[in-house]
Amino acid sequence: MEKKVSLSGLFPEEIAKAIQLSPLFRAKQIYEWISKGAESFEQMTNIDKTTRKFLEENVLLRSSKVTEVLKDPDGTIKLQISLSDGLAIETVLLTDKEGRKTACVSCQAGCAMGCAFCQTGRLGLGRNLTAGEIVEEFFFMEKEAGTLDNIVFMGMGEPLQNLDAIRKAVAILTDKKGRGLSPRRITLSTCGLISGIYELAENGPFVRLAISLTTADPALREQLMPVSKGNPLPELKTAIKFYSEKTGKRITLEAALLSGQNTGLESAKRMAEFAAGLDAYINLIPWNPVQGLQFKTPSRKECEEFVKILQNANLKVNLRTRRGVKIGGACGQLGRSVASSI
Ligand code: SF4
Repeated sequence: MEKKVSLSGLFPEEIAKAIQLSPLFRAKQIYEWISKGAESFEQMTNIDKTTRKFLEENVLLRSSKVTEVLKDPDGTIKLQISLSDGLAIETVLLTDKEGRKTACVSCQAGCAMGCAFCQTGRLGLGRNLTAGEIVEEFFFMEKEAGTLDNIVFMGMGEPLQNLDAIRKAVAILTDKKGRGLSPRRITLSTCGLISGIYELAENGPFVRLAISLTTADPALREQLMPVSKGNPLPELKTAIKFYSEKTGKRITLEAALLSGQNTGLESAKRMAEFAAGLDAYINLIPWNPVQGLQFKTPSRKECEEFVKILQNANLKVNLRTRRGVKIGGACGQLGRSVASSI
């Protein structure tokens, strides 16, 4: 075999085919071990030694590896992961007040979307991750943090530009014969690619959907998020509504609050108008500093005033605490340490 196949993104039938292994139950055993987070073929004790030796010599269990683990005093963990072709990504663990653990995974090395307030957007796109690489992020984080409760595709990259790999990774992670994660525990966050939302609504995976709205002021949104030029707000709202009605799921609208830019009275009113008629939560995140970007983090008062206007419009709003800032692992900060690889 030339380039070794990695087994982490494959179903049992594919594992059997990739290594011409029969009977199929062997491949099922390997798949179960992978789903339990096995890190070596050596650990697969119900597989005979000859087969394990064959596997070690001919295939890879995983194709990527963790090169750095950073821990913030607030409990956030950031993994730097090196991919087989030398590109690198980051994956973050967030723990909330109730102790629930959420892996914020990347789906691309870099990102092509160019949002003005985001470190990843400055890198440009390296490439899409494979399903196996996404599954590996999840297991690397479980090894570091223990059993995970949720997975959110909010790390590096735009998920709707890599939907095939995400679909497969989700199928593997939610497989009842494998890791068995509940699809209700999975959220995909998009910057607002309308065709991708319809594609998701038609073909799944039917996960929770979050939209990085940032602002409902069309001119400002085009300035901050170039994607908005081809994906205007009225059509975006129609697509979100369609997804919500089709799947019966509540949507999350997210906004990084940028002091003096999208936090004023007019911005709050526009956001309230956009959210009206949608079954949506609004998640607000005070912008996290990124070296070289000129935005400012809003004060507590600025954030609270914004929240109040939305609440007065009967909207469900959550002002999120900033986490992982010290390790560059907070929302919008991912990618600095891996920039040179992309
Ligand atoms: S916010 Fe998301 S979509 Fe926008 S540049 Fe950053 S990673 Fe890409």
